[in-house]
Amino acid sequence: MSTCTAAGIARILAVICLVGSSFGQSYPDESYATDLSTNIGEAEPRDAGVALEFRYHDHDQMTRYLRAVSAKYPALTALYSIGKSVQGRDLWVMVVSSSPYEHMIGKPDVKYVANIHGNEAVGRELLLHLIQHLVTSYDTDPYIKWLLDNTRIHLMPSMNPDGFAISKEGQCDTIHGRHNARRFDLNRNFPDYFKTNTKQPQPETEAVKEWISKIQFVVSGSLHGGALVASYPYDNTPNAIFQNYAHTPSLAPDDDVFRHLALVYSRNHAKMARGVSCKSSSPHFENGITNGAAWYPLTGGMQDFNYLWHGCMEITLEISCCKYPPAHELPKYWLDNKESLIKFLAEAHRGAHGFVVDERGAPVERASVRVRGRDVVYHSTKYGEFWRLLLPGTYRLDVSADGYLPQEVEFIVVESHPTLLNVTLHSAKGFEIRRAALPKPTAGTPGSLSKAIRRTNTSLTSTVETRIIFPDN
Ligand SMILES: [Zn+2]
Repeated sequence: MSTCTAAGIARILAVICLVGSSFGQSYPDESYATDLSTNIGEAEPRDAGVALEFRYHDHDQMTRYLRAVSAKYPALTALYSIGKSVQGRDLWVMVVSSSPYEHMIGKPDVKYVANIHGNEAVGRELLLHLIQHLVTSYDTDPYIKWLLDNTRIHLMPSMNPDGFAISKEGQCDTIHGRHNARRFDLNRNFPDYFKTNTKQPQPETEAVKEWISKIQFVVSGSLHGGALVASYPYDNTPNAIFQNYAHTPSLAPDDDVFRHLALVYSRNHAKMARGVSCKSSSPHFENGITNGAAWYPLTGGMQDFNYLWHGCMEITLEISCCKYPPAHELPKYWLDNKESLIKFLAEAHRGAHGFVVDERGAPVERASVRVRGRDVVYHSTKYGEFWRLLLPGTYRLDVSADGYLPQEVEFIVVESHPTLLNVTLHSAKGFEIRRAALPKPTAGTPGSLSKAIRRTNTSLTSTVETRIIFPDN
């Protein structure tokens, strides 16, 4: 890291301290108030409060467990709610990290969301067990310590607590409880790049949209049930006239990375990679993975939205053939998924990451970061950070921002560790003056000037690429 970048970060840290002190309490990511409830009198006693049985927890029991963990492990956890369901249940998120209250600048935030379909209950319990495992292993397991020291893990056990409340244990194949309290399928309720989504936005979806706009998540998993497969973007396709079992893959610009992420999950799972069908009428998934649209296209899914709107590489994890199996089977599901759940999140440390800064070392926010040949744009955060998950190889990065000259950087990604890339953008002002001195200026406004710069830059770029226009959010 250059010294000017370090100076910029020092300034950022000073700002964070000011923000924190002005409110007199800690905020995870400055956006959400931490649940500081000390009312654990209703919960189990503090010492026993972190015991977690293999059984299903209703909303109140889950809330008590999460509060007990946050009280017991204040240095490793922070509990916050991103909003409420239709029926007023909190949408809880627990951060597990050695920095639970503050984003670690330059280190990735990652997440899991479970129970978006209320009757798909296994993921909900597995995330509670993942919390339990992470906090109890930090002092004894060097890998978990490394992960929590370098990653902030946000875990949402239930995105659809109202649906779960009416679901029934033992029901494997019904849709009772799948939807939210207004009968909307939340995994069809997000803005869609390929088709207009006319579904009325629901409070649970709105809360998640706001959440992922405030925190730059690098990787994410959405936990479902009813199949055993890791499914990756795109879920939707421009080609499907009839949205039913088209079996045509809809490939994202980062298809290689998505396939890899899905394989990391399936191969670390006890049996997913075998690709055995849940029943004779279900499809067989080679290596336990599938492109979402190749399985069946859908409009308004959460994973495409994460990727195209916010540069978060989310995949969909179908982790149980039975949507709501008997509780006595939960230990088996935990053992089957434990390694996958951990190794998948660590993938946030693959590829390239770094900072976009100006000549003074100050962060440049919302700079466009594009890997040549992958026509999807990521944006730098307010701290100038960016992450770009990539497999080993040689790449070129194009970075641009309003008011700056575009910059291109060639870099190599290796398997063993991420590549750190700090990109300095230079002001376009001097360039503008030189252009004005030309006898026949072709452009008179800053907007067209920046277009001219882009045109110049484009002449250096490869044209062998599928053009997918990033949606204007
Ligand atoms: Zn589902």
